[in-house]
Amino acid sequence: MKRENTRKIQIGNKVIGGGNPILIQSMTNTRTEDIEATVEQIHRLEKAGCEIIRCTVPTIEAAQAIKEIKKQITIPLVADIHFDYHMAVASIENGADKIRINPGNIGGEDKVAAVVDAARERNIPIRVGVNGGSLEKELVEKYHGVTAQGLVESALDKVHMIEKQNYENIVISIKSSDVLMCVEAHEILAERTDYPLHVGITESGTIISGNIKSSIGLALILNKGIGDTIRVSLTGDPAEEIKSAKLILRTLGLRKGGIEVVSCPTCGRTKIDLIGLANQVEAMVEQFPLDIKVAVMGCAVNGPGEAKEADIGIAGGIGEGLLIKKGEIIKKVPEDQLLSVLKEELEHWKD
Ligand code: SF4
Repeated sequence: MKRENTRKIQIGNKVIGGGNPILIQSMTNTRTEDIEATVEQIHRLEKAGCEIIRCTVPTIEAAQAIKEIKKQITIPLVADIHFDYHMAVASIENGADKIRINPGNIGGEDKVAAVVDAARERNIPIRVGVNGGSLEKELVEKYHGVTAQGLVESALDKVHMIEKQNYENIVISIKSSDVLMCVEAHEILAERTDYPLHVGITESGTIISGNIKSSIGLALILNKGIGDTIRVSLTGDPAEEIKSAKLILRTLGLRKGGIEVVSCPTCGRTKIDLIGLANQVEAMVEQFPLDIKVAVMGCAVNGPGEAKEADIGIAGGIGEGLLIKKGEIIKKVPEDQLLSVLKEELEHWKD
């Protein structure tokens, strides 16, 4: 896949753009002022695979909390600012590795200049974020509604506000809950700028609808070589966002590593609790840094054949199951030991 040749931007100890791996972001949903809860959540997300974390900064206390939070985490922290430039400046002073603002709603050019000066002093990037829900009235009128063209024009106008201050340490995000509009906006934007793009579908929904909308949107965008960092937005535990983001990148061939679990859809032949087993396997394999495929199949009749493409697999039977490697049956295993036998195999896995 051809990746767009975007500029390299340093965010704390990570780099995005310029063909670097697409990094996974998420956002805490704790009160940022609550340092202990926020650090605890960031550690959990980092363990799940989060590479950049964003925290909301609605108060000066939250901006001050960044200083302590930063001492206790290793991934870069992005401060999310709405409306008040003081919060942006305070977040930068307290060690944020990047800030996310909409320069159009923080109170005018002098306020933008104050934020840019603070960012320049520490050489930290500014993510310019625009959202379909808050597109300027003039652009809605000009394009007869919220459109991809309007979103791009809005984003580039905001970028120019920062460039006018002679600052180009910029990342851009355009978000819309309309998936196809979002895809079109990214295509237009990628043609018109070489700043790295943060890609995500906003307000995508709860676990199922959010995953489907995000997967479709991100796949269509990333598959064109567009995008340098992603966030899957879900109404749920942010750890679910990380899982989905990793899976999307892996499915598109943009990430290696991690066990891929494939499982059959179950049918009338299934005689074991395959749904429960598949969920247990999915959770269990997360601890193994192997780049292999594991199959979880419902029956001994078709399971081994269907699991041929997997490196290792298990198939259910009546009261017992099978351990399978590359489609070959290795041994019979009592049903209640299928999970532990598979785990043991993974512990001693050699290619
Ligand atoms: S592997 Fe067996 S149980 Fe699963 S769908 Fe195929 S035939 Fe049905």
